[in-house]
Amino acid sequence: MKVLYRLKDAGFDAYLVGGGVRDLLLGCEPKDFDIATNAHPDEVDALFRNARLVGRRFRLAHVRFGREIIEVATFRAPPGDGEASVDKALQKGNGRILRDNVYGSMEEDAERRDFTVNGLYYNIRDFSVVDYCDGLTDLSQGILRLIGDPVQRYREDPVRMLRAVRFVAKLGFRLAPETESPIHDMAKLLADIPPARLYEEVLKLFMNGQALSTFENLRRYGLLAYLFPETDKILDRSDGDFYRCFVTHALRNTDTRVREGKHITPAFLFAALLWPARQQHLAGWNREQQTEVDAMNEAAAKTLTAQTAAVSIPKRFSLPMKEIWVMQPRLLRNSGQRAIRLLQHKRFRAAYDFLLLRHQAGEDGLQELAEWWTNFQELNEDEQSTLTRISKNSGRRKKTKRKRSHNPSLS
Ligand code: ATP
Ligand code: MG
Repeated sequence: MKVLYRLKDAGFDAYLVGGGVRDLLLGCEPKDFDIATNAHPDEVDALFRNARLVGRRFRLAHVRFGREIIEVATFRAPPGDGEASVDKALQKGNGRILRDNVYGSMEEDAERRDFTVNGLYYNIRDFSVVDYCDGLTDLSQGILRLIGDPVQRYREDPVRMLRAVRFVAKLGFRLAPETESPIHDMAKLLADIPPARLYEEVLKLFMNGQALSTFENLRRYGLLAYLFPETDKILDRSDGDFYRCFVTHALRNTDTRVREGKHITPAFLFAALLWPARQQHLAGWNREQQTEVDAMNEAAAKTLTAQTAAVSIPKRFSLPMKEIWVMQPRLLRNSGQRAIRLLQHKRFRAAYDFLLLRHQAGEDGLQELAEWWTNFQELNEDEQSTLTRISKNSGRRKKTKRKRSHNPSLS
């Protein structure tokens, strides 16, 4: 409201737009707030001490209040007719928009938004909602519909296909038939999207509490192949049952954790989604020529090379992801002091959750081990060292008498 009123008082038009309006009308809490205005980015920048100009492809102002960022974007025109433009929209030969800084009227701004329900503007002058694209009708009927010609809109920006799948899951809407039908054939256009942008989209797709249904739709529309190419191939195979089950469990667990307000990390998510690919690379391990550690490092490196050609993963997540993988065989060796050292490892909890996941998905031979670690964590330090002494002396695992008092987070 502060941003809207400051812009209005300075003589500009300013509207709340996009997900903020859509979610408020649906009675849910918006994730963030976007504002559209006829003020140019420099003018917005001059009005707010806490503003910063960002973006090349899409130049806009970020106005910051503590941890909250309000995005303020100048009305834009659709590409191509840029009479009043300040900066011509730059379009590739294939119709992709590379730079989108052609300023225009509010109505033009509405036309270049993605879905009708995202093209609603809230006007603080008279508390009305301005609707150029019949978004209110679609909103009331639960329909996600692209504005304009779907084929052209996907060609301009193929990421809109991913946004379609994301909003369907988030809002519980269905795709309008003409919005849905071109997706399968046009999915391949995602191959041209920079891996860094796809990384941002992948996080939004899988970290919002609807990962499983999103994933199923991504597969159904042939989009997953451009996000997790190796995994997608393995899941398609007729002998891919275990991995289909594994990924399903991982995503269901992620969704449950999000709903319960628990912490989730992209490292665990990538560890799970890339596990099928990593295991496939590891299958070529020649035990006579290579140590297990070297083989695991090589398999992880191959997996990451193939993956980051499609979707980049920052090191702060790919390193812990690899640690989760490397810890898996180490969890098998739980005798003596090793167990205590592993328990203190900063990646222990994630690695243990990952082990449970493998067990849940039906991997053989992990039941006793999973139970052992579950019990072991609940002992106090004296009990742990007693147990590890016993297991060291006897040379085999002993079960503790204590019962589990809580469910492990991933069970
Ligand atoms: P949420 O914030 O809940 O993910 P949102 O609809 O607000 O959903 P944002 O990514 O915040 O999505 O974008 C804000 C608005 O900008 C959208 O509602 C839409 O109007 C417009 N927009 C965003 N990305 C695109 C795009 N790729 N093509 C066209 N319009 C877009
Ligand atoms: Mg938003």
